[in-house]
Amino acid sequence: MPFNIPESNKPRIVIIGGGFAGFKFTNQIDLNKYQVVLIDKNNYFQFQPLFYQVAMSGLEPSSICFPLRKYFRNKKDLYIRSMEILEVDPIKKIIFSNSGNLNYDKLIIATGSQTNYYGNESFQKNTIPLKSVSEALYLRNSILEDLEQAVLNNDDTLKEQLLNIVIIGGGPTGVELAGALSEMKKHIIPKDYPDLNSDKMQIHLVQASSRLLDSMMEKASIKAYQDLNRMGVIIHLNAKVTDIQNNQIILSSGSVLESKKIIWAAGVTGLSIKGLESAHDAAGNKITVTDFCEVSQWKDVYAIGDIASMKTKEFPQGLPGLAPVALQQATYLAHLMNQSNEQIKKPFNYVDKGAMATIGRSKAVLQYKSVFLSGFIAWIAWLFVHIYYLIGVRNKVIVFINWLWNYIKYDQALRLNIKPKVS
Ligand SMILES: Cc1cc2nc3c(=O)[nH]c(=O)nc-3n(C[C@H](O)[C@H](O)[C@H](O)COP(=O)(O)OP(=O)(O)OC[C@H]3O[C@@H](n4cnc5c(N)ncnc54)[C@H](O)[C@@H]3O)c2cc1C
Repeated sequence: MPFNIPESNKPRIVIIGGGFAGFKFTNQIDLNKYQVVLIDKNNYFQFQPLFYQVAMSGLEPSSICFPLRKYFRNKKDLYIRSMEILEVDPIKKIIFSNSGNLNYDKLIIATGSQTNYYGNESFQKNTIPLKSVSEALYLRNSILEDLEQAVLNNDDTLKEQLLNIVIIGGGPTGVELAGALSEMKKHIIPKDYPDLNSDKMQIHLVQASSRLLDSMMEKASIKAYQDLNRMGVIIHLNAKVTDIQNNQIILSSGSVLESKKIIWAAGVTGLSIKGLESAHDAAGNKITVTDFCEVSQWKDVYAIGDIASMKTKEFPQGLPGLAPVALQQATYLAHLMNQSNEQIKKPFNYVDKGAMATIGRSKAVLQYKSVFLSGFIAWIAWLFVHIYYLIGVRNKVIVFINWLWNYIKYDQALRLNIKPKVS
């Protein structure tokens, strides 16, 4: 039996990817009508919007991840397999992995996106990305490790490189990281490392375009700039990174920044699978879909979430890579397939839920249609929206308590540099 999945009289739906889109689809599809196989590289769901809090020692990984088997444990005719799918043959309707092949009746591609280095090897080699919980943990350890090394070192140049942090990319992730780091510099480092002069620590935020948060309205960009500037973050606008060598970040202006810790928050691109190349969009890695989430080249192949390139009148460049898009497409497609007559179908209609980013303690920006909010109210809204979307009651409670504790005590309790055992 391939993948140890029994044959069934019901059509088999295979979902590749248990992120926002795959998880939601699995939760909504009718298991009386289909046999469902959910496949992910990891055995857990990851809540990516809070990765930066794991990296900043604010939350434990287990608070923002959820085991897939636990969530779906009582569902009949649902099979979860933790493995990487390496190739798809959409004509013969087979998926391939190192553990064998499996045939499907309907295939849902929900593989999300990956860090985009725009083809530059030196960016990939010399920076730390933030696209998985393990990368968030790696970043947390790097920050803590470099602080420890800075205490031990007397060489001024090395000390500067160990203390400085450069974030490349001024979108929501870059802004959130910069804000959290500046709070760490102000409230935590002076207490934990009294023998380090935290004033020497520089946090640089490098943005290629002329404003931060450039996917949001201009008011949000101005507010983020003002807040971060006041918090001591050094912001470089219209600054493209041209090269990174020997802990030096070279900007298009000719300026050189010195840092051992360079965080890459400058964008993502689709994470497709071999065999699907002919459905990729012009930009390269996303899969072009119709208004019905179908991949038109092949029958019974669908793509949802970040991997799907769906152009609409409001979004001629394609829907944004956001959790609400993934969740809404998943719900739409599951309902479509649950119908007794799948031929009666209305196209997918994205309901824009607005955008938000937190800048720091009591500071956030929020836009919904033409409404713009900032400051404490936007921050509270940000907190509650994120808690609402987290999976698992335990996670919601733990995150809430952590944030409350942090708010009252100006402290994050998780600064442990736990290293994996080598050999
Ligand atoms: C740091 C960060 C912050 C973000 N903040 C926000 C935010 O504040 N608000 C917002 O709306 N969105 C935010 N996003 C974007 C949001 O997380 C994505 O839009 C969303 O995760 C897309 O869901 P998805 O299901 O398409 O992909 P994902 O959630 O990425 O899930 C894809 C899954 O597919 C699995 N997979 C991939 N390839 C394979 C394979 N070959 N075989 C098996 N499994 C595979 C992966 O392991 C993963 O679990 C953020 C993203 C990041 C990285």
